[in-house]
Amino acid sequence: MPGEFDLIEKYFTRPSPSAVLGVGDDCALVRPSSGMELAITTDMLLAGRHFLPSDGPGTIGHKALAVNLSDLAAMGATPRWVLMAIGLPEADEKFLKGFSGGFFALAKKFGVELIGGDTTRSSLLTLSITAIGEVPPGKALRRDGAKEGDDIWVSGTLGDAAAALAHRQGSLRLTTEEAIACFPRLFVPAPRVELGLVLRDIAHSCIDVSDGFAADLGHILQRSDKRAEVEFESLPLSAALKAHEREEAARNCVLSGGDDYELIFTASPDKRTEIDLLSATLQLPLTRVGRILSAPGGRGAGGEGERLQILNKGQTIKLDRTGFDHFGTPR
Ligand code: ADP
Ligand code: MG
Repeated sequence: MPGEFDLIEKYFTRPSPSAVLGVGDDCALVRPSSGMELAITTDMLLAGRHFLPSDGPGTIGHKALAVNLSDLAAMGATPRWVLMAIGLPEADEKFLKGFSGGFFALAKKFGVELIGGDTTRSSLLTLSITAIGEVPPGKALRRDGAKEGDDIWVSGTLGDAAAALAHRQGSLRLTTEEAIACFPRLFVPAPRVELGLVLRDIAHSCIDVSDGFAADLGHILQRSDKRAEVEFESLPLSAALKAHEREEAARNCVLSGGDDYELIFTASPDKRTEIDLLSATLQLPLTRVGRILSAPGGRGAGGEGERLQILNKGQTIKLDRTGFDHFGTPR
């Protein structure tokens, strides 16, 4: 049986040339680029809640890092370093090999280095990743920057990850072809890092979609003290979701399903051409889905549910507090 330090050495120690000191001491040492602000985030993943222990180890490693890189992307930060706290039920080397393989493949893609962490025994497989990025002073994309009259944009497509999960749980029936299209969105999400970096000079506010479109746009509205109007038909749907858009379960995935890791951002209408060009350059759909409106009656007025109005063929889709929705009768 390998011990704790054998596991760390074998599976979590990789060269980290951009750090002053990486894995192996009491602390890692880093030297931030001159004058940059650090963007720091932690996300926790628990077996049974965020993934199933039976999921592929490589996909668990990928996703654990991807969700953190997505938070950096949403702030417009360049990913630099990452720390990992892992609780393992046993020293399962087959798992650790796959897990660290998925983790480091994604880390390499974005040039992030694992510089430290903690490894303990735990009855439940738990993961807590801390990611550190850099952003020029004052340039971070925040939730509180939305301005009245801004367009609301979404990257990629919405609801695919939730549709894969709903399919797995039996609440939505996808064809094999549709499932094949949706499952990678759930298991190996792509953090929109490149997009976040360019948006620093374009967007007024930004958030990544981890809890669902309605809830996450709601966070921008709340932090910016604004309202918004969105047309359901303008939301970007993959071919798979499009085929099911009349089904309430599928529309719930689009509006309230988590795990998309797309970016929602707001920008002045005079940026439309620039954003269309950016979409072409990144080969990533960027879709205009609505508009930011002034807050009702000034600061603090209006319940959270009233800030966001989603219209479907002229009818308002009612959203409750959590962003969960009750559709009118589909036509
Ligand atoms: P300490 O006792 O000071 O907390 P540890 O013995 O827990 O240090 O860890 C030894 C070294 O290995 C430290 O540099 C720590 O950052 C690193 N480390 C431990 N677990 C991990 C992990 N899962 N990933 C990366 N580095 C790790
Ligand atoms: Mg320790």
